Amino acid sequence: MKVLVLNSGSSSIKYQLFDMRDESVLAAGSIEQIGEPGSHLSHALPSPQGGMSKTVRDLPIADHRQGFALIASVLKESGALADTGELRGIGHRVVHGGEQFKEPARVTPEVLGAIRGLIPLAPLHNPANLLGMEVAMESAPSVPQVAVFDTAFHQSIPSHAYRYAIPKKLYEAHHVRRYGFHGTSHRYVTKKGAEFLKKPLDSLNLISLHLGNGASAAAIHQGRCIDTSMGLTPLEGLIMGTRCGDLDPAIIFYLERETGLSSAAIESILNKESGLKGICGVNDMRTVGELAKAGNPEAQLAISMYCYRIKKYIGAYHAVLGELDGVIFTGGIGENADFIRAECCENLAHLGLEMDNRKNRGRQEGCFALESRASRVKILVIPTNEELEIAEQTVACLGG
Ligand code: AMP
Repeated sequence: MKVLVLNSGSSSIKYQLFDMRDESVLAAGSIEQIGEPGSHLSHALPSPQGGMSKTVRDLPIADHRQGFALIASVLKESGALADTGELRGIGHRVVHGGEQFKEPARVTPEVLGAIRGLIPLAPLHNPANLLGMEVAMESAPSVPQVAVFDTAFHQSIPSHAYRYAIPKKLYEAHHVRRYGFHGTSHRYVTKKGAEFLKKPLDSLNLISLHLGNGASAAAIHQGRCIDTSMGLTPLEGLIMGTRCGDLDPAIIFYLERETGLSSAAIESILNKESGLKGICGVNDMRTVGELAKAGNPEAQLAISMYCYRIKKYIGAYHAVLGELDGVIFTGGIGENADFIRAECCENLAHLGLEMDNRKNRGRQEGCFALESRASRVKILVIPTNEELEIAEQTVACLGG
């Protein structure tokens, strides 16, 4: 049973083809710079030596329609998929599902209309996700399509955690509330965490830390999300590669008055020039780590601020969860940066978290545990796999 997962951006389409009998990846790749000079296709297939072997081809790709046709033709050429009729379904990543979508949804004209209605909440992402769905439906009309929303996992958050303390009419008329993102990743790693701990997910209280270029924390109570750090948009919460995270909102009005910058210019600064990049000039945590090690004080400050913010969220979520069974690190930084994990968990023995530094430094494949014998709380590294989660949810939505 084959499932294709598509993540359509404004000038790119990422794809992964799974055989859901054993969840193996049959092919994966991306089309980048659609409609621009330099458009190209990267296509990777499982290599007999293990891992994936990738080829890159420069090709003119005028639009998403041509992009989808190209993906279908390379999948056929490589023998991964004879034709789209072989697909059980196509799963689409959709960033914003608002309050309507608490679960994945089979794509219908009504569902497309509802996603279109949510464009004001995600003006950069939802239009590109919609385009991907429309093109895939036109090109493979007999294949069922499923929309999987980044926000859906957080729809279990209660109102005292999702409402902002602003006039009620702004929530009612303009839907201003916390939605949260990275839901597909938080859902996947908490599920894997329960498997790793050999306990039912609905018996576990977990804090999930997705630390990639974007970053968010989620508090999971007996398997259900009860709070998360991203808000109406992905700007709130943890410090990220280029996003500021939590901020006094009055800073925006102060900057407007003092600098004469427009609100759009300030929005762009807070999204693209802030976070690690704003503090030390670079947003890639590997480089920040190297600079800090070489004695660069700005990089050292960036790491201290980054970990301090995470620690505050661990403390806050521990308080709202009461009992805490485990903390999960995932995402490029969470999975790979031992120095970040160590600093985030430093001096938290009073909360029951004690890291074994030797285990933390040893990189292992798959899931692994970092806590010491004395630790009451498990500390886990769990590699995320959002594409596989989308494929699993696609199958589940289509009835197994
Ligand atoms: P993601 O968005 O999940 O792909 O994560 C990207 C982030 O992970 C970037 O900041 C990378 O620098 C960071 N990252 C990836 N590998 C490492 C590593 N070995 N050490 C530190 N950071 C890493």
